[in-house]
Amino acid sequence: MKKVFIYKNDLKASRTIADELRNKLISRGVSVSESLTGDVDLIINVGGDGTFLSLMQNFEFPTAKVAGINTGHLGFFQEIAPEETDRLIDAYLKDELCSQKYNIVKAEIRRKNGETIAHRALNEFVVKGKGTKPIHLDIGINGSFIEKFSGDGIIVSTPAGSTGYNYSLGGSIVDPRLNLLQVVPMAPMNTTAYRSLTSSFLIPAEDQVIIRPADSRNRDLYTLYDGRELRLRDIESISFRLSNRKINLVRFGDTSFWDKVKNKFL
Ligand code: NAP
Repeated sequence: MKKVFIYKNDLKASRTIADELRNKLISRGVSVSESLTGDVDLIINVGGDGTFLSLMQNFEFPTAKVAGINTGHLGFFQEIAPEETDRLIDAYLKDELCSQKYNIVKAEIRRKNGETIAHRALNEFVVKGKGTKPIHLDIGINGSFIEKFSGDGIIVSTPAGSTGYNYSLGGSIVDPRLNLLQVVPMAPMNTTAYRSLTSSFLIPAEDQVIIRPADSRNRDLYTLYDGRELRLRDIESISFRLSNRKINLVRFGDTSFWDKVKNKFL
């Protein structure tokens, strides 16, 4: 039996659309689950991209297909308009939903005392210093040291996140069919005293980016993953790599990723 889980934000418009959607699905014989159980084959997210990111983080990046009905501002993940709800239900019932896979980035954070924690993000990780202070990081790829970075911070972005913060910082928009990570400097210092790369760089899926605080007297870092804040104390290293897990975003088959870029940005 077909089973749908509806996730929404608290906006009145989202609650109204979610209620209508629920009634329509039930009237067409679909079971609507109150929780995200293993037999759910479609998640419908009602809200903006921020709601989409919170769904992903709160439910640990579910692999069931996810359709986003946009009641937010930009709606890059939330690409189905509220008036297209019937089209979504029809395609779901006819098993005609297409989806696009998106990579996730995983960070493994190692503290000086040997403790490790891991987090994942759909868009990006941001690593910064405290307030407006510049940070100094040793950046490596796999086992090789690449640069000593000095500046406001760096972001490590997935293709999904390439249209988010990455884009505002001058990073490239990446087609989600490419499996890679993009490292973007935030206000890199490039003087005779400090030498940092001033452009973003791309690394393939098999490789990992490793950062270490370059100043042993200050090992505290401030991180954001998909906009969620995390204060990290006494850090030895953070390594970033693409996770094996991917999410499945429902798309109507008549528009390409680049049509979406054109419609949302130009
Ligand atoms: P937020 O207020 O939830 O989101 C900020 C804006 O970014 C919203 O307009 C959101 O769209 C849009 N957005 C989110 N992911 C996107 C993506 N993959 N492609 C295009 N636009 C996207 O902010 P937050 O909770 O602090 O952080 C959530 C995300 O916002 C971050 O992961 C980051 O990518 C982005 N962000 C961007 C900047 C910047 O560009 N300067 C600064 C901070 C954060 P909706 O309106 O549809 O929700």
